Amino acid sequence: MKPSIYNLTKEALIEWVVSQGEKKFRALQIWEWLYRKRVMTFTEMTNLSNNFIEHLNAHFVINPLRQLVAQKSADGTIKYLFELHDQQLIETVLMRQKYGLSVCVTMQVGCNMGCSFCASGLLSKKRNLSVGEIVAQVMQTQHSLADERVSHVVVMGIGEPFDNYENVLKFLHIINDDKGLAIGARHITVSTSGLAAKIYDFAANDLQVNLAISLHAPDDEIRSRLMRINRLTPLKKLMAAVEFYTKATNRRVTFEYILLNGINDQVHHAQRLANLLKNKKRLAYVNLIPYNPVNEHDQYKRSSKEVVLRFYDILKKNKINCIIRQEFGTDIDAACGQLRAKKRNMEEKDEMSKVSS
Ligand code: SAH
Ligand code: SF4
Repeated sequence: MKPSIYNLTKEALIEWVVSQGEKKFRALQIWEWLYRKRVMTFTEMTNLSNNFIEHLNAHFVINPLRQLVAQKSADGTIKYLFELHDQQLIETVLMRQKYGLSVCVTMQVGCNMGCSFCASGLLSKKRNLSVGEIVAQVMQTQHSLADERVSHVVVMGIGEPFDNYENVLKFLHIINDDKGLAIGARHITVSTSGLAAKIYDFAANDLQVNLAISLHAPDDEIRSRLMRINRLTPLKKLMAAVEFYTKATNRRVTFEYILLNGINDQVHHAQRLANLLKNKKRLAYVNLIPYNPVNEHDQYKRSSKEVVLRFYDILKKNKINCIIRQEFGTDIDAACGQLRAKKRNMEEKDEMSKVSS
């Protein structure tokens, strides 16, 4: 199986092209074909010689994804299911926001963090996605749009980005490149369940992308129940890493907080959360997320609207910046991991009926 050319950062592409005896500017031409004109075959790169096109064809493919499903929701959300070369399945979601089109990408096949409310955690990590497999999700989504441009990217699909750190970082550089897709760093958000060591590393990266932390609880007792990672990285350690990050970058951090009925959504939880964040007011933002129920985790239910608003009011009264996240595509299994889990279930049922017939 040939690798995808989307694996290569601009520097790596230049290096490869030069190593093949071609001039550097050929790499920049290829880059432009890939990310500006967004062609999906080398043959369309008409300013390259036929020999070089053949050479490219012999070494690379462009798109490593096979689209199996594109499910469209009433609100315009599109959820894609892609198959990888080793038959693994991944999901990508395109959302229509007020401010533009946003793509949510997957970074791993499954996830090893095992958060007890999450559909992705049901499928342990099979492997990391390559850089090209992450880039291709944006390219393929962009390709399916007529005249519109993908303006925002959220690294919030299946998997833990900081558990595939090097590849995710290269991905961010590729989509941000101003001679390519040019997705502004401020339009890119990376969400982590809280791998503290990598938060320190991320503070040193030169891209001004947004960082979101999946907090989901106001104290260690609840967070450890919801998120296994909290047993390794309790809140004190996590908050110290976030403190370092905000001081080093002067960038705001978003705290994601899923509201789970009766578990973390009561008045005393909101007060404790406000307390936890009180020293970070200037650089903290809380994103309250309605829970997307997962069949296999039926101990978790979504909080009622009244409870969500009460929680929001308490944070606001405590002067914590806060919003309630708009939901997308609830009619099409848009929560991370749900479409993939459903497809796998259907396949398993198919297999079962084959066995039983
Ligand atoms: N692994 C990373 C990024 C992917 S998950 C992380 O955990 O941050 C992206 C966000 O969706 C996280 O905040 C996650 O906690 C949340 N999430 C997971 N399952 C959900 C569900 N069923 N309903 C709502 N949000 C969910
Ligand atoms: Fe993995 Fe994020 Fe789901 Fe936790 S919430 S299991 S880290 S994808």
